[in-house]
Amino acid sequence: MVTTLSGYKDLITLLDDISNGHRLTIPETIKLFKTRDRAAFLISSYADAIREQKNGDLVTWVKNQNINCSNICVNKCGFCGFSVNPDDPRAYELDSKDIAEKAREAKNRGVTEICTVSGLHPAYNLDSYTSVYNTIRKHAPGVHIHASNPMEVAYAARKSACSTREVLEAFKEAGVGTLCGTAAEILVDSVRNTICPDKISTSEWIKIIRESHEIGLKSTATIMYGHCESIEDQVTHLSILREIQDETHGFTEFVPLSFIHSGTPIYKRGQARPGATGREDMLMIAISRLFLDNFKNIQVSWVKLGVKMVQIGLMSGANDIGGTLYEESISQSAGAKAGEYLDPQEMNYLVTDLGRKLVQRKTDYSFI
Ligand code: SF4
Repeated sequence: MVTTLSGYKDLITLLDDISNGHRLTIPETIKLFKTRDRAAFLISSYADAIREQKNGDLVTWVKNQNINCSNICVNKCGFCGFSVNPDDPRAYELDSKDIAEKAREAKNRGVTEICTVSGLHPAYNLDSYTSVYNTIRKHAPGVHIHASNPMEVAYAARKSACSTREVLEAFKEAGVGTLCGTAAEILVDSVRNTICPDKISTSEWIKIIRESHEIGLKSTATIMYGHCESIEDQVTHLSILREIQDETHGFTEFVPLSFIHSGTPIYKRGQARPGATGREDMLMIAISRLFLDNFKNIQVSWVKLGVKMVQIGLMSGANDIGGTLYEESISQSAGAKAGEYLDPQEMNYLVTDLGRKLVQRKTDYSFI
């Protein structure tokens, strides 16, 4: 027999309660993630209504550019197709002249945000990172620097024998405007031990993000899902982010990052599945919107999902389409097919098709 809407009475009651201010519990959220049938569209539609309450019909984007200074990395994260050893023929390292040129190029393009994260180069220390930021600041004055992440902060601290708070303060002083909330992956140590055993632990990630917010360096928040984690792990991760946001209000946005599998060691070793399905991608955005009641902005990543799925994300609770990027090498190395650059005209085509309005924003979500 075909289930009609009345067959989803309990779900509709829960969704109505959330719309009226009920805060989702962990068991309720786990149940939502297990939805496999058309009820997924109900969840997505309620999430979209909450998005509309918070953001109206505006879809934001940012004109940004990546500068990945080197792909040489001492870590060997199992989901990473980007990092290489120094003797690998694909290894590269930008010097300060290259970085200056890329920064000037970004400034000339009218970019408002430069993102820079690199491999953990064996020779890098605190001074190497601050010199990159100083170079960018000098050659792209006024452009917001969105840089580093808790893993790089911990690495710089270790290499220069100082505290992570001192590193964050030095980064801020050198011109970093916001910290990337990457290196979070899944904030559950048993998962991290499989996918990125060399990376900082969950508690270290949380400590550094809190410190960053405390010194006034806001950050993004991310999740990388669709590899070997369970639904329970995903919800634990979301609840950590919600708790930090309750305390600090320091996250500017939440960016779900769907695992790109094909070029990654964990997939090749059989330790990960071939990424999330479309249903899971849609539910991740929708349930994040419902669960993260203290976040205003949820981004759908065209790099990870491809441009057509971006529309599904925008209809499931997302209000931001991310950036132009110009140079994207990290996801491409893992096998992403979406390309290096998304033209705002194409963004506009997707957004107006949904009856919504595309608006250019800065990193802090103020409009241009
Ligand atoms: S994810 Fe980052 S830290 Fe891990 S191997 Fe890749 S570049 Fe290195």
